[in-house]
Amino acid sequence: MSTPLKADAPFWKTKTMAEMSQEEWESLCDSCGKCCCIRLEDEDTAAIYITDVACKLFNPETCRCGDYENRSKLVPDCVTLTPVNVSQLKWMPQTCAYRLVSEGKDLPEYHHLVSGSRDTIHEVGMSVQDAVTSEILVDEDDIPTRIVIWPGEPDIN
Ligand code: SF4
Ligand code: SF4
Repeated sequence: MSTPLKADAPFWKTKTMAEMSQEEWESLCDSCGKCCCIRLEDEDTAAIYITDVACKLFNPETCRCGDYENRSKLVPDCVTLTPVNVSQLKWMPQTCAYRLVSEGKDLPEYHHLVSGSRDTIHEVGMSVQDAVTSEILVDEDDIPTRIVIWPGEPDIN
């Protein structure tokens, strides 16, 4: 028998993603920055590999998009997450808060909505803060040599 949720349970446990307000939806992002790193797909196996090369708009110090409001215009490849597409994007990091919630999982202790601080994720080393190089500074041919496994992620998605 499952335990009933308390009346003061947090919104990500009581609401569906479609029921969340825009503010609640945006607050789920923990600024890990992993989804802003360039991914490579193996054409034979369809395996997805992630690199330590970040999108040109990514700010490695803040670990956030440098122009979030205009990101879709400036980077057409940037995927805007929605309650509909989040469960279909298999390349999203395993630790992505949207992925966790869409899979019915709880947020980790380092998530700011749990810890109360947006610094916690960086302090425990679960973000890419200061660990990536902008794609502007990397030769495209060298990107395959920049494949990494970020903390919390499996070898192959
Ligand atoms: S992977 Fe998810 S939690 Fe991390 S920055 Fe991207 S959207 Fe936010
Ligand atoms: S445009 Fe912004 S949100 Fe989109 S991948 Fe680049 S840095 Fe990330």
